[in-house]
Amino acid sequence: MSDSQNARAASLSHLHSARLAKGDPLSTPIVMSSVFHLPGDPAGFRQYGRFDNPTWEAVEAALAHLEDAGTVSFPSGMAAISSVFLALLSAGDRVLLPADGYYTPRVLLEKHLSRLGILYDTRPTASFLEGGFEGYRMVLIETPSNPGLDVCDIAAVAKAAHEHGAIVVADNTTMTPFGQRPLDLGADIVLAADTKAINGHSDVLFGHVASRDSALIGAVRDWRKLSGNIPGPFEAWLVLRGIETLELRFDRMCSSAETIATRLADHSAIKALRYPGLAGDPSHALSRTQMLRFGSLIGLTLETEEKAEAFINTCPLLEATTSFGGVHSSAERRARWGDDVAEGFVRLSIGCEPTEALWASIETALNSL
Ligand SMILES: *Cc1c(COP(=O)(O)O)cnc(C)c1O
Repeated sequence: MSDSQNARAASLSHLHSARLAKGDPLSTPIVMSSVFHLPGDPAGFRQYGRFDNPTWEAVEAALAHLEDAGTVSFPSGMAAISSVFLALLSAGDRVLLPADGYYTPRVLLEKHLSRLGILYDTRPTASFLEGGFEGYRMVLIETPSNPGLDVCDIAAVAKAAHEHGAIVVADNTTMTPFGQRPLDLGADIVLAADTKAINGHSDVLFGHVASRDSALIGAVRDWRKLSGNIPGPFEAWLVLRGIETLELRFDRMCSSAETIATRLADHSAIKALRYPGLAGDPSHALSRTQMLRFGSLIGLTLETEEKAEAFINTCPLLEATTSFGGVHSSAERRARWGDDVAEGFVRLSIGCEPTEALWASIETALNSL
């Protein structure tokens, strides 16, 4: 890790020191209150639970520390994404999205935002720069793409899209601020489903939006207040607790993924393999320039649907589940959702188990196919 990332990780655990008075609890309290004591002039005070909550403020302070940017929290990753669309787009605006990224934003635009006159196009992540950005008000990127793990050049997209006045939004869910820093590379907004690695314990849905542009983040904050698209204090507290170990978890997850991907490359059951950290991967050269770690997701293809299902369901250290980024390793055959991937394609999410025990269980399951 760079010195600045080390410093950020180290001070994260001590952020609460600033608010402590003698005798205060060290851990952040969960504040369950819809109203606040508010006599007289309300200006400058917490006013109402849809506007402010001390537990959101604590998790937003931690996320803002990690992103080095103003941050607004949301009750899910999709709430974060839809809020960016609805706060910043108007009728007649066009959005460009990855064709191979998380599918729900495309469905949302197709089914609902099109009614409001917001238009969209899609483009494969691997060739995202081709075709230029003229006519787009917003460009959403997801790199590496989920589940195909293609990458696009964040700095080059930001530069080219800015020439046409577009707002550049990066969905950084797969990488977290410890794996990739899109705002440092020129994106205007970074957002994430904290449901995944940031919370990390598969027990809450959450999301956030961050930006160093005060007008953009102010518009998103105002949208949340007016739309009521707010997280619960208990969920905020769980995410705050998860964040405390993010650096440690993500470090183990990425290190294990690197080791396991290298070994999978030599296994005869594997027909195709994608991992940005592999020297032979099509995304490796670009990944080296813009990713701080290569991530915890591996895309592997087995010969058939049956073999993929057998692998997922017999490996004792893999949970058969959708989603990713949890402390437990998990896997899923993405074709079951209709993703444009081979029937035998498995998205493997590497968790925090000891690396050698995890590899042994994966290797045994592969050998018995
Ligand atoms: C899961 C996910 C989302 C949506 O998050 P939810 O918390 O399920 O709403 C958005 N983007 C990416 C890349 C995701 O993986």
